Amino acid sequence: MSAFIFDVDGTLAETEEVHRAAFNAAFAEASLPWHWESDRYKELLRVSGGKERMRTFVDEEEILSETPLDDLIPRLHQTKTRHYGQAVAEGQFVLRPGILDFVAEARERGIRLAIATTTSQENVDALLAAAFGGSEAFEVIACGDMVAAKKPAPDIYQLALERLGLPAAACLSFEDSSNGLRAAKAAGLRCVVTPAQYTVDEDFTGADLVLPDLRNAGPVWELFAAGAAA
Ligand SMILES: [Mg+2]
Repeated sequence: MSAFIFDVDGTLAETEEVHRAAFNAAFAEASLPWHWESDRYKELLRVSGGKERMRTFVDEEEILSETPLDDLIPRLHQTKTRHYGQAVAEGQFVLRPGILDFVAEARERGIRLAIATTTSQENVDALLAAAFGGSEAFEVIACGDMVAAKKPAPDIYQLALERLGLPAAACLSFEDSSNGLRAAKAAGLRCVVTPAQYTVDEDFTGADLVLPDLRNAGPVWELFAAGAAA
């Protein structure tokens, strides 16, 4: 038995611009004078998790909030999630090239599929519904706040492995970011990196394979076969 474990944002689809727009819409809806341009967002992406990212922004900008952050940030995150879900349902995302065919081929070969992401369950469900017609293809979905320590901590991958009931050696992980790669490696997984729009300049030292995307997935199957033979 073996499984492929996928990150979501940047790996299944280019979603970061949708996330950024949703954050900005939530800030505007709360009448906050905050706005994240793409350069700033790229810096903030080093922090996994939307709530954690907002908190880092408030700290770095030394913003003095009238509303306690423990109230404000979860509320903003709810609004952001609503905007994101609407945008994704309207098809405002771009799937990574080759991902649909790759997932279909993996299913045909009897490989089990899982998700390990720091994004929330609502966001994952919205994307899987819009892109894959639902979440049925993915037997295990480890996401959001199911673990306290987000990527680059290995916890979300460890949870996915536990739910799959498989050792790391039986699985391959797929990531687009350095944080994700570090999380996967810390969980003992082999990792294929397909850098995305926002992560293309990151350091992927330690990756088992770096490919522009999964259109020509031959090297992935070779890596997978090498692991199965080992
Ligand atoms: Mg990602």
